[in-house]
Amino acid sequence: MAWRGVVDEFRGRLSRLPADAPAITLLEGDTPLIPAPRLGARIGARLYLKFEGMNPTGSFKDRGMCVAVSGAVATGASAVVCASTGNTSASAAAYACRAGLRCGVVIPDGNIALGKLAQALIHGATVIPIEGNFDDALTIARKLGELESVALVNSVNPLRIEGQKTVAFEIIDALGRVPDVHVMPVGNAGNITAAWLGYTEAVEAYETAGLDGPDRPAMWGAQAAGAAPIVRGEAVASPQTIATAIRIGNPASWQGALDARDSSGGTIESVTDAEILAAYRLLADTEGVFCEPASAAGVALLLQKAGRGEVPADAVIVATLTGHGLKDPDRVVQEIAVPDAVAPDLEVVAERLGL
Ligand SMILES: *Cc1c(COP(=O)(O)O)cnc(C)c1O
Repeated sequence: MAWRGVVDEFRGRLSRLPADAPAITLLEGDTPLIPAPRLGARIGARLYLKFEGMNPTGSFKDRGMCVAVSGAVATGASAVVCASTGNTSASAAAYACRAGLRCGVVIPDGNIALGKLAQALIHGATVIPIEGNFDDALTIARKLGELESVALVNSVNPLRIEGQKTVAFEIIDALGRVPDVHVMPVGNAGNITAAWLGYTEAVEAYETAGLDGPDRPAMWGAQAAGAAPIVRGEAVASPQTIATAIRIGNPASWQGALDARDSSGGTIESVTDAEILAAYRLLADTEGVFCEPASAAGVALLLQKAGRGEVPADAVIVATLTGHGLKDPDRVVQEIAVPDAVAPDLEVVAERLGL
């Protein structure tokens, strides 16, 4: 049967979604779980990439946004609002237009990848850049969400977490087992909270009984070194990293991330921007998978920990790649120079190609 999208595929498990909510969908979810044998060999593990960049707007945010917007329609909202480092606004704008709702987004001026801003604009959202960071934007969006018939669709909305937990169900289905480790970038920390909820619910439903592997994975989270409040144990007033999607100093789901880490026997650690960029390039030029910089943070952490001998041998590891590389092509051309033009001459071209 054809895939119906997250709301209808998983409706029976989305207990917080009103039963009469319509399914506002772009057929999100069902993303590929791609084996990564070369990178896995470097790490000494059986590595799989859950490529959430293959969702309709190019990030995992769609998995939660479809549920949040479906819920907003059910409760009679006429507008949705969010603060965003980019992908939330792209997703909110698309799903709001699908539902016929207005969409307002508050973003930190100058720190949004162009592809994401373009998406919010083309889907008809009203975009308000502020002279502040994501945390400032979220403070404003939370207040706007208290207005009559306005729904806040950041991950502080429990329906976002409901939708995002479904990634765990898909991973268990695709692997036929629970992974030993699930690693991902951590920004506002909604996603690690959600994936952990999904694994927990799968165990409670006995869906993992009799399967190989552990009942639940160890949850490993990666923060950028310049934006690592959870690792440091205190909020960061002006977070800095090239990985703009995780440039967050005071995560809304901080406690959820700590619960996921501690209940799973996991860890949340930091990676430098240089490590993030190295992992970003390795994913693209050894495995053929192009994700955005923030998405590579989890793989950067795996490489770092492998270097210290902290990756269990032959572990089954899933890394969520949270967003698509085409969101932020500027980053590529900052890393790799675009070659100069040459004469339209076979010999010249062949020589340049080394053929
Ligand atoms: C939103 C986002 C993150 C961070 O997810 P949180 O739920 O905020 O921790 C990471 N990567 C990408 C590409 C994102 O869009």
